[in-house]
Amino acid sequence: MFIADLSYQWLGPIIFLSVGVAFLLLYWHDRSQHAALHLAGCYFLLMTALLGLMLGDAGKYPALAFLIPAAVYGGNFLLLRGVASLFGQKFPRIAFLAALALSVAGLIYAGETSAPFGVRYAGTCGFMIVVDLICCVLIWRGRNHRVDTVIAVVFLAHAAAIGARLVAMTLSGTEILTHAAFKGSHVALAMQTGNAIFAIFIGLALFARYATTLVTRLSHLAETDPLTGLLNRRAFQAMVPAMRAASAPLPTGLIICDIDHFKQINDSFGHDVGDIVLRTVAELLRNVAGEGAICARMGGEEFCILLPESNAEMTRLAAARLRVAIEMQQMVSSGQKFGLTASFGYCELRPQDDLRVAMACTDAAVYQAKAAGRNTVRVAPALFDPEADKRLFPALPRADGKPGSAMPGPA
Ligand code: GH3
Ligand code: MG
Ligand code: MG
Repeated sequence: MFIADLSYQWLGPIIFLSVGVAFLLLYWHDRSQHAALHLAGCYFLLMTALLGLMLGDAGKYPALAFLIPAAVYGGNFLLLRGVASLFGQKFPRIAFLAALALSVAGLIYAGETSAPFGVRYAGTCGFMIVVDLICCVLIWRGRNHRVDTVIAVVFLAHAAAIGARLVAMTLSGTEILTHAAFKGSHVALAMQTGNAIFAIFIGLALFARYATTLVTRLSHLAETDPLTGLLNRRAFQAMVPAMRAASAPLPTGLIICDIDHFKQINDSFGHDVGDIVLRTVAELLRNVAGEGAICARMGGEEFCILLPESNAEMTRLAAARLRVAIEMQQMVSSGQKFGLTASFGYCELRPQDDLRVAMACTDAAVYQAKAAGRNTVRVAPALFDPEADKRLFPALPRADGKPGSAMPGPA
């Protein structure tokens, strides 16, 4: 009997300890995860409170009457901090302080009037219900994944379970007078079971949030160019089909741009200035191309832009705007001013066209823009229907009398 009771009394604290250690290991692994440290602290403090409640006796050690609630307050403070930071919300200082002040005032009043232990227990439980409800609001506000709704429901269920225990305690009519009486009561038994279950549920739910945050962060890292913050080539190619499908039956506009004489910028001003130029150009492309466009750094000083619902003329105008924006950009390094230019290729991408062919042809257009003296815009060579393009862009005679390029002139 003794062993069975002891096992049960240790069950809750051991679960709290395990979850706390798991959060601590998470923090150990990644020191930027402050929420994990807060949640580890929360679980350790609540474990201490549970140990004090189930193994101590406030009748023999009066200090426990204050130490147990203090551990509950501290644990719940850390829980709120952890949840707030995990869900990108501000710590709800006023709501927490109001709940704390009410609960502490209740405890002091209970101490003054020598109220039964059950009343003091109810006061601390009321505080925990309020904290659970605040957590629910924070999670709901910061939710960005389906798992977040489940986490909010788990907190709501925890608040409901504590509330149900209090109601059952009141309705049973048996007044719990002392701490020793509480430990042997049905309320204590129900509390231990509830605590053990919710310690696991809440711990797992918060871990699930960590997992989804981590996966989102990793996939963002895998898709983003670290220098410019634009998409990388792989992410660009993965996102294009969705935009083309959304634009269909209208075409999309593909633009490729390459900074002119970028090697000279690196050689004259240094690699760091070259990096600043890449970031500046990326920012310009993002701003001028507009919110609907997909912008990517394809590698080196080459960028790619896909415009939704854009025909050849609209794409040409967009490329011309981007070219002018880069040309207007003034750069300064060590007091020395220098300008930037870039060469552009573009094409209209119809729903049935092959992206790889279009990219290769638009790349060829960039080379033509370079050959034409740079800082200019060229349409992709006849990539879709050579006959139709010959009709649209008849070969222009060159100054030397040889057959010229079928490309229209600079935009
Ligand atoms: P063009 O006008 O013909 O395009 O000439 P360019 O000098 O711009 O082209 P080139 O291909 O000769 O040189 C590209 C340079 O870009 C060479 C490479 O060192 C530099 N580069 C590539 N990636 C980075 C980067 O991330 N940062 C910096 N600073 N330079 C880079
Ligand atoms: Mg270049
Ligand atoms: Mg290049």
